Amino acid sequence: VTRADRLEDLLRESELEALVVTNLVNVRYLTGYTGTNGVAVVGEGLRVFLTDFRYMTQAAAQVQGFDVEQGRQDLLEDAAKHVSGRVGFEDHAMTVRAHERLSGFVDEGVKLVAAGRLVERLRAVKDEGELRAIRAAAALADEVLSGVPERGLAGRTEREVAFEIETEMRRRGAEPSFPSIVAGGANGALPHHSPGDDPIARDTLVVVDMGAVVDGYSSDCTRTFATGALGDEASAVYELVLGTQVAALERVRAGEACVEVDALARERIADAGQGERFGHGLGHGVGLEVHEAPTLSRAGEGELRAGHVVTVEPGVYVPGEFGVRIEDLVVVTEDGPEVLSSVPKELTRTS
Ligand code: ZN
Ligand code: ZN
Repeated sequence: VTRADRLEDLLRESELEALVVTNLVNVRYLTGYTGTNGVAVVGEGLRVFLTDFRYMTQAAAQVQGFDVEQGRQDLLEDAAKHVSGRVGFEDHAMTVRAHERLSGFVDEGVKLVAAGRLVERLRAVKDEGELRAIRAAAALADEVLSGVPERGLAGRTEREVAFEIETEMRRRGAEPSFPSIVAGGANGALPHHSPGDDPIARDTLVVVDMGAVVDGYSSDCTRTFATGALGDEASAVYELVLGTQVAALERVRAGEACVEVDALARERIADAGQGERFGHGLGHGVGLEVHEAPTLSRAGEGELRAGHVVTVEPGVYVPGEFGVRIEDLVVVTEDGPEVLSSVPKELTRTS
């Protein structure tokens, strides 16, 4: 059973005769194509992949299970020729302009239907090949992250440390899955801080959040290091976040409601009086994109399933002072979590 076959089942459930897939990550997932212009059309017995002249050779080498056709640069007109009846489009990925164009190209009898994230639903559950790539990405990123405290942090700039992390990843043949976060002292209280030019202080906490891409699949891991001695509040917050992270991990298994896993972590942090300082979700799915389904948050939908790959990353952010976040990447199985992150989580003191 191919990925497109499984999509066909979802189309039947949604009473759609075809789906025009324009999100390039979804196109890649279904066809194997990694170029920057391509559209896939999937329906009952219908597997068409369209690209333009520039990518025909690449498509011939990469695309499997689809008829490859050369279209014009705007592929919607060519895609429109293949569809009839109720036809889904990816409303979260298609611009209003592209939708207007597609509407103009399809036959009169065609009804275009906003189909939502159908391919994303399939992508949430990883197969063995995908898990292999994610495990490799996590292992490579861990090697790089382990080197960070060894090289020391105090006195160096965040930008320097981030540059070094990304260089080390590239040296090992991978790319960063997102711009690395290095956030010392008060900057650590900004969950998505961009590394800056101020030197990292002594005796403070430094949040380092990074990931690698291997064969198209991402990893994501955060550790918080200490550059010497910590005050009582910082030590207590670190222990709180660590205890919460470990407790939440234990709940990661097939059948758990996503919202419940988040709630467990949220209650624990609230009970310690820090509820206001944990303002983001507990975790997110990771795969071809570094943020994808499922979501572990108050808005999380559905249950965890075997083959999901999620992060577990509680954080406490004390404005003007410091932040702590600890993030592991986890494969969901029937029996519990398969934790892919191996960098130690006990507080690591470095210079
Ligand atoms: Zn992260
Ligand atoms: Zn994350």
